[in-house]
Amino acid sequence: MLIQSDYHIHASFYRAKNPGDVSGPIVAEQRDAARAAGNKYIGILEHCNASPRHPFHCLEELSAEYYSDGFDRDNIFLGVEADLADDGSDACGDSGRKHLKLHYVIGSVHLSPKIIPDVYDYIDTEYSRITKALKYNDNVNIIGHPFGEGIRYERAGVVEKWGFDLIPEKYLEEIIMLAKNSGKALEINRCHEDDPVYVDFLKKWCAENICFTVGSDAHFTENTDKAALRTRWAEELGFKEENHWRIEK
Ligand SMILES: [Zn+2]
Ligand SMILES: [Zn+2]
Repeated sequence: MLIQSDYHIHASFYRAKNPGDVSGPIVAEQRDAARAAGNKYIGILEHCNASPRHPFHCLEELSAEYYSDGFDRDNIFLGVEADLADDGSDACGDSGRKHLKLHYVIGSVHLSPKIIPDVYDYIDTEYSRITKALKYNDNVNIIGHPFGEGIRYERAGVVEKWGFDLIPEKYLEEIIMLAKNSGKALEINRCHEDDPVYVDFLKKWCAENICFTVGSDAHFTENTDKAALRTRWAEELGFKEENHWRIEK
């Protein structure tokens, strides 16, 4: 059995809003929802990147809520989801991490056809950023949703069907080997049971004893239930608790 944990929960109250935008949850609301959804270890975060939606002061305010007097922090941790750059560095950096008093950093690649129109250019770019982060970036603990944004190319009609078969096999193998050597975790952030190459990719994480996390990527309280679903799926695929990434206390 895996201990159900979720380190990818957005306190999306802490982002710049346009007039009329729905206000997302604060840290306490996501903490309570994630506990009610059955998670033992819980990590709350927001995006750290150059988008005007995510100015750094929003992260300072999020951190201030987490560290406020009387806030129940039992098995609750503070992170960011920082965008990875072309050189593998992350948008938060060691100084941002210290300033916000974070427990962990998820490094993710967020791309779309609007930014990179060609799907193979997208794959090459994500591969390059992830492998450089795994090799050179000591600040990142977890690689968030590897190639999880590929589905955008299907939604936009760039490819008829998105699948991990579009990614060169050697890219996936290299990511697994680098994750193994670095001790960083790879994140299960989607359940694509119908993509055999993705399923094989995850089964290789198991075979190689790669560190892993399960993330709901919930932006609202009602989406925190996804961690349970993905954790059960991970168990079916053969993931073991001994490889389940945890904050070192
Ligand atoms: Zn993301
Ligand atoms: Zn996210």
